Amino acid sequence: MQASPTSPGAAETQAPSATDPSAAPGAAVDAVAELIGVTKVYRKSAAAPPVLALRGVDLKIRRGEHLAIMGASGSGKSTLMNILGCLDRPTDGRYRIDGAEASEMTDRDLSQVRGQRLGFVFQAFNLIPQLTVLENAATPLFYQGVPAGERVKRSARALERVGLGDRMQHRPAELSGGQQQRAAIARALVNEPALILADEPTGALDTSTSDTILELFDELHAGGVTLAVITHDSAVAERAERTIVMRDGLIDQQVYR
Ligand code: ADP
Ligand code: MG
Repeated sequence: MQASPTSPGAAETQAPSATDPSAAPGAAVDAVAELIGVTKVYRKSAAAPPVLALRGVDLKIRRGEHLAIMGASGSGKSTLMNILGCLDRPTDGRYRIDGAEASEMTDRDLSQVRGQRLGFVFQAFNLIPQLTVLENAATPLFYQGVPAGERVKRSARALERVGLGDRMQHRPAELSGGQQQRAAIARALVNEPALILADEPTGALDTSTSDTILELFDELHAGGVTLAVITHDSAVAERAERTIVMRDGLIDQQVYR
């Protein structure tokens, strides 16, 4: 890549980079998350051959979008999710989340971003069995140092939103799978994140329970929540506005609905 010109006005004469869709004229969207030329190379040891898990991914997630991420096993979905979720950093390229440049952050700053701007939903719910549903939903606020009274108020509100207002004092084991996933979704919502990342959120649920969870996602999306959902299930992907299909560390296909 050429060095940028430094003389005033010269930048306007530069053609947009072919690999950077954000540089295209008229491409102004309110992107909540933006990856530019993101690569990820894993190296198990100095002797092992490097694995190119991401090979230059450009992706913008629009504020309010409902995005599905598909692709065969090994195509780079989890690696992409880890970077979107600030659980890992790109080897190269840039990642901006909700206006913050994450590619250059320290671990401490990344964990701040995770706590304040991101929500996570997992296949296995990942609730803490010893805690009540209310306490589970409040955990992100606990790590933010939000005072107890405020934590209760906000997590109760999130639980009402997912239809668990009458189950707040229960333990996870006393709930059905669908209710446990609702509790996990309340936990993801409680900090009003810029982006919710869900990894196979219906993978552990039967079809009819899955449907109720997908309806909840639709409702949240209609209420303005930005969602990125990894799934193998085309029925899940069909509810999204856009599906990207990963292959060999790149976005291979995009389908808009
Ligand atoms: P997917 O989630 O689509 O199955 P992954 O992102 O988990 O794909 O993996 C992409 C590629 O990176 C695969 O070849 C995988 O073996 C490799 N990989 C993932 N994580 C690691 C790691 N921690 N160390 C080495 N290789 C890894
Ligand atoms: Mg994976």
